[in-house]
Amino acid sequence: MSTAVLSIGSNLGDRLALLQSVLDELASRVRAVSGVYETDPWGPVPQQAFLNAVVIAEAELDPIGWLELGQAIEQAAGRVRELHWGPRTLDVDVITVGDPAPVRRDTERLTLPHRYARERAFVLVPWLDADPAAELEVDGVLRPVAELLAALGPDERAAVRATDWELRRCG
Ligand code: ATP
Ligand code: CA
Ligand code: CA
Repeated sequence: MSTAVLSIGSNLGDRLALLQSVLDELASRVRAVSGVYETDPWGPVPQQAFLNAVVIAEAELDPIGWLELGQAIEQAAGRVRELHWGPRTLDVDVITVGDPAPVRRDTERLTLPHRYARERAFVLVPWLDADPAAELEVDGVLRPVAELLAALGPDERAAVRATDWELRRCG
């Protein structure tokens, strides 16, 4: 069995339903789920705010298996995106895979841990919500996610706002 931390986001269409579709697809593999956060978009393309969440799931999958499952869920949601870093219906990123030791992978197809996780409040805030003891390997050292989050600027943390929405676990 391996455990994956998945960061999910949507800023096009019925954002909440798209995030919920991830829980529905993962079904009984879900171990924990964060609250739903709203995050201001960044980058050069003007777009609607994102809804973000983190799901922790367990399955008999290798790291590529988790990547492919995430991509299959994106496809099932009819992922649409025209511009790089532009709006998209559903994005599923694999943040870490524990086998149970943290897997390291450095290829273009799959980098683990996800190369930007440590600097993204919209990943770290929901992750900490789903798992208050979460740790992320940074430069070969396991660091508490709470510590990485504290190291980000207050503006970045403030850009990730809790909402009243909840994702339902099924199965
Ligand atoms: P970002 O990586 O900045 O979050 P993105 O999510 O918009 O960007 P995508 O277009 O969704 O990028 O993915 C581009 C490629 O990234 C995918 O084809 C996939 O093979 C690769 N990739 C590498 N590592 C990972 C990972 N840990 N999780 C998901 N995709 C990954
Ligand atoms: Ca992404
Ligand atoms: Ca992605």
